Amino acid sequence: MDVAVVGSGPNGLAAAVICARAGLNVQVFEAADTLGGGCRTAETTLPGFRHDECAGAHPMAVASPFFRAFDLAAHGVELLTPEISYAHPLDGGAAGLAWRDLDRTVAGLGRDGASWRGLFGPLVRDWLELVALAMSDTRHPPLDAITGVRFGRRLLEQASPLWNLRFREEAAAALFTGVAAHAIVPPRAFSAAGVALLLGTLAHVGGWAIPRGGSRTIVDALASGLERSGGRIVTGHRIDSLDEFQSARTILLDTAPAELLRLGGDRLPARYAAQLSRVRYGGAACKVDFALSGPVPWRTPDCALAGTLHLVGTRAEALAVERDVAAGRHADRPYVLVIQPGVVDDSRAPQGNHTLYAYAHVPNGSSRDVSAEVIAQIERFAPGFRDLILAQHVRTAAQMSAYNANYVGGDISAGAMTLRQTLLRPTPRWNPYSTPLPGVYLCSASTPPGPGVHGMSGLHAASHALRTRFGIRTDPLTLAAGTAAIPG
Ligand SMILES: Cc1cc2nc3c(=O)[nH]c(=O)nc-3n(C[C@H](O)[C@H](O)[C@H](O)COP(=O)(O)OP(=O)(O)OC[C@H]3O[C@@H](n4cnc5c(N)ncnc54)[C@H](O)[C@@H]3O)c2cc1C
Repeated sequence: MDVAVVGSGPNGLAAAVICARAGLNVQVFEAADTLGGGCRTAETTLPGFRHDECAGAHPMAVASPFFRAFDLAAHGVELLTPEISYAHPLDGGAAGLAWRDLDRTVAGLGRDGASWRGLFGPLVRDWLELVALAMSDTRHPPLDAITGVRFGRRLLEQASPLWNLRFREEAAAALFTGVAAHAIVPPRAFSAAGVALLLGTLAHVGGWAIPRGGSRTIVDALASGLERSGGRIVTGHRIDSLDEFQSARTILLDTAPAELLRLGGDRLPARYAAQLSRVRYGGAACKVDFALSGPVPWRTPDCALAGTLHLVGTRAEALAVERDVAAGRHADRPYVLVIQPGVVDDSRAPQGNHTLYAYAHVPNGSSRDVSAEVIAQIERFAPGFRDLILAQHVRTAAQMSAYNANYVGGDISAGAMTLRQTLLRPTPRWNPYSTPLPGVYLCSASTPPGPGVHGMSGLHAASHALRTRFGIRTDPLTLAAGTAAIPG
């Protein structure tokens, strides 16, 4: 075996595809009985109701250089784009709406429309440069001064006490903050503002797509691409030590740093082991899947067109509840992220019925079932929701950690998105993918560019491994596309 990949999440599979398409013999080992990591779909509530168990909306997959080269559409994945990428309802019936169309968004934000255009317009125009920056390995960002300055200026503004000067009304401020909260750190942090600027820009470019049939179709496409290139996947096989791979020339770990610590054991130099053990795991998610007898009765009718909704109320409320989570407290009215796939995909539930995806932010390690709080938060903006529930399935943060070892304590980012851990992910090394063990690389979302279904951590790690272990210098994007001549 040339390359062993531990873990079959989007990054592990992306790395495996690239190595296999470089002509190497590749095997993937997955602990769970099904492949896909944080990109699986299952009937967790009732037969015929297909729920995304982790990732549900895919702005990153649409924009990612890896997936654009791999070409998901050519592999049968249909990415459906809601007219409204994300919505943020407020008490009393108002709502901030991020339409895919920037002009329509600006028109809907009234007095703050021009400010929204000022914030996002230039980033939307040069989105490819922004993506190249945000999805880089952070150690060698592209030398594009204009994009860097534009992004940096906006980042400084939205991560400072000046952040409220831009907006005069609540809807726009809350709309921005709802996206920032994806980082599960208090929304005025640098990393949160960066996430909001990136995902907010993508909302007005490729949109926040929802795959027909579920997120699983994305990893199925990668798996079939891998198998067609000669790679193999073994599921239901948890790796317990790096010593299991005596014959592999290279090992790519689609795992959290904590798992590398476990797998490497005494082989890891003490200093590096100490660095791995200092990685902090952050705010977590309690996931709730609902089977519904009909669409959610949003008080604001346009919310019915949104793929994703952020339910928390005002910017100040979002800040307060995320501070609670960061301090290890459960919020009474937590931040709840909702995805309604039925807006674009009628294949998720039997006719007339719907699935609803929700998760609430909770402290790391929480074993509390917060489905009552989730339902109350949805009811707050959609009275009558409760009456539509046919069945529900809950996975607490602690159970999330057991479901996927990468989500330590239920941290869905596989490492807290603090400023330090965003820039110096996973440890302060020049090459974030390499380890002190020759031929052993990390390739998961715990490495740059961080969480999301983009495959770029896998691409960067595979690219390093190919160069240094096999002397293969072919552009990894050409390999991802499957158009490279296999090196002799
Ligand atoms: C609730 C939730 C919601 C999310 N929502 C979104 C979203 O809407 N959009 C988005 O883009 N992203 C979302 N994400 C994040 C996204 O799912 C992850 O960032 C992404 O899946 C990371 O990919 P990965 O390949 O690095 O790791 P993972 O997808 O986590 O895969 C890692 C795999 O490695 C396996 N593994 C670990 N240790 C071992 C071992 N010792 N032996 C064998 N196998 C092992 C695990 O079982 C797992 O299958 C969400 C995540 C969660 C949990």
